[in-house]
Amino acid sequence: MARRKYVVGNWKMNGLSDALGEAQAIFAAADGHPMVDVAICPPFTLIGAMAAAAPGKAIGGQDCHSAVSGAFTGSVAAQMLADIGASVVIVGHSERREGFAESDADVRAKAEAGLEAGLSVILCVGEPREIRESGGAIDYVLSQIAGSVPDHFDAQSLAIAYEPIWAIGTGLVPTVADVAAMHGAIRGALAARFGDAAEDMRILYGGSVNGENAAELLDAGDVDGALVGGASLTAAKFVPIIAAA
Ligand code: PGA
Repeated sequence: MARRKYVVGNWKMNGLSDALGEAQAIFAAADGHPMVDVAICPPFTLIGAMAAAAPGKAIGGQDCHSAVSGAFTGSVAAQMLADIGASVVIVGHSERREGFAESDADVRAKAEAGLEAGLSVILCVGEPREIRESGGAIDYVLSQIAGSVPDHFDAQSLAIAYEPIWAIGTGLVPTVADVAAMHGAIRGALAARFGDAAEDMRILYGGSVNGENAAELLDAGDVDGALVGGASLTAAKFVPIIAAA
């Protein structure tokens, strides 16, 4: 089965209520590209309102707790996201792995919680600059995959996002050949573990994707879409990326 392209906006800690119109504009434009799956992951605070403003659209959280409920002040459970209209959750973003000391085991538990709640999961991996420079990027990322991808899931409901940390928000992007090599290595590792199901899993690229570089990156081998930060905040910047997919 051909994999559908998947373009996901990660709004990070950006967006107040007045940004809902932007999301509506993005989803309206996305309707003109029916072969591309589009999701927006706003801050937790906007999910409910966005789901109401854009019914039926794919809206997600940027993180979830691995527990279903309990004494975890400040945290949000996966089923709480589902309860307010989310259908997607990002786990293991490098800003969580680094800033909140999330281990591969933590990320795996969050992914399992997301799947259990019926969410489609986007699981992020990616190497820091010094690992890329030392030539160890593929080994590093495959180790993250081994440690953080759950054992059981439907291939359609778990996507990997390869996001080299040094490319996030910097304007730097790997060469297309490096992206293709990494995505091919990830697909190979998934195939070794999950067999044919790996062919149905989507592997997104993230890190400084914009309207100018999207077509080339999305055309690279084994690249099934993009996870977009800064350029997903406005329709003017995000829609050209959707169109390029
Ligand atoms: P960026 O962020 O597109 O702003 O580089 C990507 C991400 O962190 O998901």
